[in-house]
Amino acid sequence: MYLKSLEINGFKSFSEKIEIEFIKGITSIVGPNGSGKSNILDAILWVLGEQSYKSIRAKESRDVIFHSANKSKNFAEVVLEIDNTDRQLKIDENIIKVSRKLFKDGKNEYRINGNKVRLKDISELFLDTGVGKSAYSVIGQGKVERIISSSTKEIRDIIEEAAGVKKIKLRKEEAEKKLEKVKNEIEKIGYVETELF
Ligand code: ATP
Repeated sequence: MYLKSLEINGFKSFSEKIEIEFIKGITSIVGPNGSGKSNILDAILWVLGEQSYKSIRAKESRDVIFHSANKSKNFAEVVLEIDNTDRQLKIDENIIKVSRKLFKDGKNEYRINGNKVRLKDISELFLDTGVGKSAYSVIGQGKVERIISSSTKEIRDIIEEAAGVKKIKLRKEEAEKKLEKVKNEIEKIGYVETELF
């Protein structure tokens, strides 16, 4: 699996649609200060479902929509194309397109191969692949320093994500919550039963 291309339209400094093709191997992005290099990385994190605006250097959601003194966009859209010929992502397609669109009214739209999905579906698709928004495939300025000074619990989380056990842990937590709910329901039914008989 590798990133094939990135399409950005109306996101941060990119007022018009641009497309970046990545080749297999190493791609370097160079440019003067303030030209938008980090905005490209922000776009990748954002399309993968980043919810923390601090992580993508914005104060609130609409900050990511392009605006300037004489022109503003009504939406921001990012489309990430992934080569999945090795089937690392569990969808039986060679190319997977993940997209996110944010409208000025704050509505977000997520899609996988053109179909509307929930944010949860995008997170689950990338969980334990090393790519998701919480994975360490995007290392921004200052992140290495933050990792080194992390607590033992945070370092354990990083290792669990890399080892691929995070997905199982999340499923276990979900199952435990459901079990707790069922237990409560059984208890309630028990009370009603005692009252009736
Ligand atoms: P450096 O080399 O200094 O780290 P860079 O190439 O990584 O710079 P970025 O930080 O990606 O540059 O881009 C910063 C630019 O993006 C700033 O000029 C900022 O005004 C612009 N920008 C950020 N958000 C928006 C937005 N919503 N609309 C228009 N421009 C924006």
